[in-house]
Amino acid sequence: MKILVINAGSSSLKYQLVDTDLDKMLAKGLCERVGSKDSYIKHGADKDERIFAQYMADHEEALKVVFDALIHSERSTITSIDEIDAIGHRIVHGGNYFDSSALITDEVLQKIESLCTLAPLHNPPALKCIQVCQDLAPGLPQVAVFDTSFFQTLPPSAYMYPLPYELCEKHQIRKYGAHGTSHRYIANRCAALMDQPLEDLKIITCHLGNGCSISAIDHGIAVDTSMGFTPLDGLMMGTRCGAIDPAIIPFLEEAEGLTPAQINEIMNKKSGLLGVSGISNDMRDVRKGAEAGEERAVLAYEMYAHSIRKYLGQYMIEMAGVDAIVLTAGVGENCDRMRRLAFAGLQPLGIILDQEKNSRSHHGKERFISHDDSPVKIIVIPTNEEMMIAQDTYEIVSKL
Ligand code: ADP
Repeated sequence: MKILVINAGSSSLKYQLVDTDLDKMLAKGLCERVGSKDSYIKHGADKDERIFAQYMADHEEALKVVFDALIHSERSTITSIDEIDAIGHRIVHGGNYFDSSALITDEVLQKIESLCTLAPLHNPPALKCIQVCQDLAPGLPQVAVFDTSFFQTLPPSAYMYPLPYELCEKHQIRKYGAHGTSHRYIANRCAALMDQPLEDLKIITCHLGNGCSISAIDHGIAVDTSMGFTPLDGLMMGTRCGAIDPAIIPFLEEAEGLTPAQINEIMNKKSGLLGVSGISNDMRDVRKGAEAGEERAVLAYEMYAHSIRKYLGQYMIEMAGVDAIVLTAGVGENCDRMRRLAFAGLQPLGIILDQEKNSRSHHGKERFISHDDSPVKIIVIPTNEEMMIAQDTYEIVSKL
């Protein structure tokens, strides 16, 4: 089955055409700065990518450009839209409505729309893309794959906040989590690599990119995750602060005369690695700074590792143990020094990193980096959310 996977961001649109029979990506690309004069599309496959400047006023135009690139460009992989069997959309917020992926119907669309207040930057462009696809390819089945659905299994003791119950109910305040498709993908791959059923394993999955989250997956069921009501919670990230004492917010608002929007901007865009180091949100730059002895870069680097260790410890206790710790995304996959710091001295807990395997170059491959004698396995698995979305779409559409 040829499945087009669409991931609409607030000003971007990522896509992949996947052949699920061959388990292969046929083409992929990215429309950037949608809505601005310098928008462009990057289209291709593997290392053969081309960038075209192309004005795209909105997501509707971006999608038309995507279909055009797939069908008519030098690097076209299909000759007509009819060759696509189904479309899978990444939807950031499924609220409490969706505990799994869903075939898109009018009712599903209404529910996604009602959640726009919880994901104002992401659900509206995704909705737009679904509608445009309905217009461009009427009758083509479309599937919604939600970032939040994987965490609908969390028990209330993990997803509720200790605020007045009525307020939480009124405003749908609870932990929803994020990056669910990535955590689900790497947990499944972990079980496959360990050659054991997912249902037999206790896994901690770490998605460490610009955004960072860690999840506890107990016998195949997500029981906790570090992101909360919004993706601001949890770990220290590139520009996001993660969990802080909530009293700091009203304190700063008053002390600095800040509006809620300004403090939100500070916590989302000016904190994390960037805020502490004063250098960059990019781990590579911070690491360089730390190696050069810059005090704040060293601090940022050590705080980041401390933040990871806190969640590892918490989730080991929550699951009463762990069989495997999986790392993915830019930092998780590539930063051997951060991994060394995060796992330092954990031998008494059965977590033993193999220094040689950890520092070996890998070229984006799945690999064990724990010592052969380590009771807890440590595994690096490049995430592939698009493949997970394509697989869910296949599962749903093939049953129609
Ligand atoms: P996003 O959440 O935007 O998808 P990525 O998964 O691409 O983010 O991760 C981006 C982060 O990964 C950046 O902080 C970047 O510095 C870091 N990163 C990428 N490659 C390396 C590397 N070789 N060493 C250290 N950090 C890296």
